[in-house]
Amino acid sequence: MAGKPTPMMEQYFALKAQAEGALLFYRMGDFFELFFEDARIAAGVLDIALTSRGEHDGEPVAMCGVPVHAAEGYLARLIKAGCRVAIAEQIETPEQAKQRGGSKALVARDIVRFVTAGTLTEEALLEPRRANLLVAVAPLRDRVGIASCDISTGRMELEDCAADALDAVLARLGASELVVPDDWPKDWPDTPDETIERPRASFRSEDGETRLKDIHGIATLDGLGDFSRPMLAAAAGLVAYLDHAGRGKLPFLLPPVARGTGAHLAMDAATRASLEILQAQGGGRDGSLIAALDRCVTGAGARQLAEDLSAPLADRRAIEARLAAVHHVHGDPLLRADLRALLRQAPDIGRALGRLVAGRGSPRDLGQVRDGLAEARRVRDMLAASADLPDLLQRMSGALGGHAALVDHLARALVAAPPTERQQGGYIAPEYDHALDALRETSGNARRAIAALEAKYRGETDTPALKIKHNKVLGYFIEVPAKHGDKLMAADSGFTHRQTMAGAVRFNSVGLHEEASRIAEAGAHALAAEEAHFEDLVGEVTARREAIAATAAALARIDVAAALAERAAESDWCRPEVLDEPCLDVTGGRHPVVEAALARSAERFVANDCTLGPDDRLWLIGGPNMGGKSTFLRQNALILLMAQAGSYVPATSARIGLADRLFSRVGAADNLARGRSTFMVEMVETAAILSQATPRSFVILDEVGRGTSTYDGMALAWAVVEAVHEQLQCRCLFATHYHELSRLAETCDALSLHHVRAREWKGELVLLHELARGGADRSYGLAVARLAGVPKPVIKRAKAVLDKLEKGRAQTGGLAAGLGDLPLFAATAQEEAETAPDPLREAVETLDLDALTPREALETLYRLKAQAAETRN
Ligand code: ADP
Repeated sequence: MAGKPTPMMEQYFALKAQAEGALLFYRMGDFFELFFEDARIAAGVLDIALTSRGEHDGEPVAMCGVPVHAAEGYLARLIKAGCRVAIAEQIETPEQAKQRGGSKALVARDIVRFVTAGTLTEEALLEPRRANLLVAVAPLRDRVGIASCDISTGRMELEDCAADALDAVLARLGASELVVPDDWPKDWPDTPDETIERPRASFRSEDGETRLKDIHGIATLDGLGDFSRPMLAAAAGLVAYLDHAGRGKLPFLLPPVARGTGAHLAMDAATRASLEILQAQGGGRDGSLIAALDRCVTGAGARQLAEDLSAPLADRRAIEARLAAVHHVHGDPLLRADLRALLRQAPDIGRALGRLVAGRGSPRDLGQVRDGLAEARRVRDMLAASADLPDLLQRMSGALGGHAALVDHLARALVAAPPTERQQGGYIAPEYDHALDALRETSGNARRAIAALEAKYRGETDTPALKIKHNKVLGYFIEVPAKHGDKLMAADSGFTHRQTMAGAVRFNSVGLHEEASRIAEAGAHALAAEEAHFEDLVGEVTARREAIAATAAALARIDVAAALAERAAESDWCRPEVLDEPCLDVTGGRHPVVEAALARSAERFVANDCTLGPDDRLWLIGGPNMGGKSTFLRQNALILLMAQAGSYVPATSARIGLADRLFSRVGAADNLARGRSTFMVEMVETAAILSQATPRSFVILDEVGRGTSTYDGMALAWAVVEAVHEQLQCRCLFATHYHELSRLAETCDALSLHHVRAREWKGELVLLHELARGGADRSYGLAVARLAGVPKPVIKRAKAVLDKLEKGRAQTGGLAAGLGDLPLFAATAQEEAETAPDPLREAVETLDLDALTPREALETLYRLKAQAAETRN
């Protein structure tokens, strides 16, 4: 049938057109239905049945549906799978529709909200320990404005940066959803999948300023900070998108904070990925720095910690303030345990507040605000009792109180554990509202009266099986088994027939009808009364939203300090000393993630020192594969990062010179999965360091140059080390397996040689994971291969090839011969020394000790000693 679409289908198509590519959840009674392609996609993602309904253009219309009461869970899965959803609700009741347009009228529907990854507030849809950021960017000439907000808590930040620094900012933010103007270059690198294009016209800086002023009811933004035009343009785009997603209803937004440049340790995307700060290489949290650190007892604390680690500070005083807070809680284990026990009870008030202000709150959210604020008060009292509170804790403590009247009001108004749904009522506490109590009493009495009626009717009809039941369609009714039905059917029985079922008959009676009406009426009034109280309470909470958000933030900060103190105590970490001079002086340093992993298999981590300073700022580290070079590099980068984030560090002592930027690069061979020519990636990333690092930066370079042929690779590594030493003059740890690079020590005076120690014992390679001064003496490639289980014949063959190569190298001067001014290779000389005959050794080996007299033994010893002296000369 290619006929006219039904009115319902017409309405559906109109809404679908407004949904702009999002899946349309079309409300029909107790279900959200999806049609056509939407239904196929959703059925696939949700693994629910795909059915059909009617026809369109001669084809059956594919359909699937989810029950409204369980919609959140389904939404969560669709959003996770990368979908966006438009919710089309019925905006009038069927009765209203009939009044408006007669008996056939279609209920009016409208899209009330878009649900997207960046605009979630529902508890079920959010991860408690992760912030959920919506980010908008607006390029304006050579700068880019960036507006980010977490609408689950209302936090909003504005910043701007040079166009080529945008990748690093986006990497730091890790947005769930990115909003860009529609003239955005399509080939922009690293734009996340969840990128939404919006009209360029919605990114005007003047609009941004006006909107922010309106939202916060202020005449000028000057009091909030210094906002550039790109920042305001991005803010305009962000607010316009929120407006669009909420169909005109804006979520909770706190006044924006301007993020200054230079306030944080800068790290680009490659550095973040390689240091595995919030995510391990595999993509999960397991194996990441945060997983090894996070002992927070609240979701808000864990989110704050993630932010601290993503954006460590670059300001010494601010770092000291955080460290002092950790120090205080670290030094007082009792306070720490008590604080953590209290915080553990505290609900996530930031997110509950976000939902309430967004108009999606529930009685449970009010209960959470009540309990969270009450807990905050207890935390404040506990801190007040602690002597010599450091500044930061003092400030946080100040933000915890001031809610007594609100808490008291909520405590009187709400039951102990309010529900997430309002439809059933029952969340307003008894004795809060006497009229409500009276209504409840009325329905209670009527319920008791109905129970009495049941007993009465059983007696009167002599039917013990008679029951009074309730369902949604009929309301209250009397039910008897079919065989007793006739008795009640009689005209004078006082019962009126309502329904005959397979095994039962249902009736009504005047008495029951009266009581049921009383219940219904009282119930409706009670619900309305509760609803009115709910709105009032939400209004009261909303009015104090900024103070409540400040309390939530303070609780999170305190949780972070206590959690870091707990973590430090667990593994005996130390408080780093933070200095302005460019040093990195770590004794007994350890890698927090590798150490934890080794501990699980009862292995010991070998601590190593690092002493970079102005005169010795570049360490070249050699030694066998698997010897611990990468681990050493990363542990020092992480120690610096943790110190600047305000955490204790895994070391016995640490003096950390503040860095402005941190770079970490890994030779391309480790990155095979990345598609682009791996060597190209390696070089692009290395180029970024060479153009961006300053003398205050800290750089770790792991096997750079490995991604190409030996000659190229060594040449590049050589040139990079020289550039880092001569031009950048920053602190740098450089791991390499090119022995030849040791020659650089002769010309670069702030460069020193180090190696991870290994020993061959009975033909087996033993990796000591211990760092020692001096160049690596030899290569252990074959021994490592043996360790890895490469079959013996292959090793043997490799040994033969190696011998041949090394002989050739001895004759030609080896790889670095072309570099002219370089002396011969230490490694080759060493190899030769090892294979040349040793007369002293032979003399000892041929001795027959048992045949010697004591006197001969002594004489032999003298002779050997003389021979040894001779060989040396
Ligand atoms: P390389 O970079 O020299 O190839 P890695 O740093 O990747 O070596 O270390 C290889 C393995 O050695 C690690 O996965 C870890 O299990 C172990 N290891 C590294 N450093 C240490 C250490 N300091 N103490 C104990 N084990 C270590």
